[in-house]
Amino acid sequence: MRIVLLGPPGAGKGTQAKLICETYNIPHISTGDLFRENMSKDTPLGKKAKDYMAKGLLVPDELVVDMVADRLTQADVAAAGRGFLLDGFPRTVVQAEALEKISAKNDLELDFAVNLEVPLDVLVERISGRRICPTCAATYHVKYNQPKDEGVCDLDGASLYQRDDDKVETVQKRIEVYQEQTEPLIAFYKEKKKIVDINGLQNMDDVFDDIKRVLDGANKI
Ligand SMILES: [Zn+2]
Repeated sequence: MRIVLLGPPGAGKGTQAKLICETYNIPHISTGDLFRENMSKDTPLGKKAKDYMAKGLLVPDELVVDMVADRLTQADVAAAGRGFLLDGFPRTVVQAEALEKISAKNDLELDFAVNLEVPLDVLVERISGRRICPTCAATYHVKYNQPKDEGVCDLDGASLYQRDDDKVETVQKRIEVYQEQTEPLIAFYKEKKKIVDINGLQNMDDVFDDIKRVLDGANKI
């Protein structure tokens, strides 16, 4: 099973990625982890990334692509029947085209681009309602997961706070950036008949059931 997982911040991508990878026994490949691994192991690609960061420069697309290409030739991908789930990559059409080339070269043709759909206003509510305990890192939500006493951690009584990243205006910006980059990406995979739209408004078990139905259907072919 070879999957790309798409979805805006707050769509529950992390939870679904975990469920998919456990169920289908495929490695979860996220760009964040790739960066951390390459840098902590001081690989040639990690060294290059560090050079850019030390200069205060953005890491160029081709370096990200090289990290993904390198990762897709590792043993666990082969052991999973050339399977993987990509999370956070591709983010742009340029990256998607690069992935097509890597796939063609390594006999790793993509099965699906799973697209978690959640309306903008819901995403903003989900993310901007998060509150975090500074002491134990427990997470709450002002509407969906309230502490017993407003603004106070159930476990240790510390005052909860909101991350800057989770403030309404920041969330709206993050989602706008995502939409600008990803809409063309969705069109790209639609044209290749790879896109699977999943209603991300349901609870996480129902979302996973919908994903599983599509992936299992594919397994039987
Ligand atoms: Zn706490």
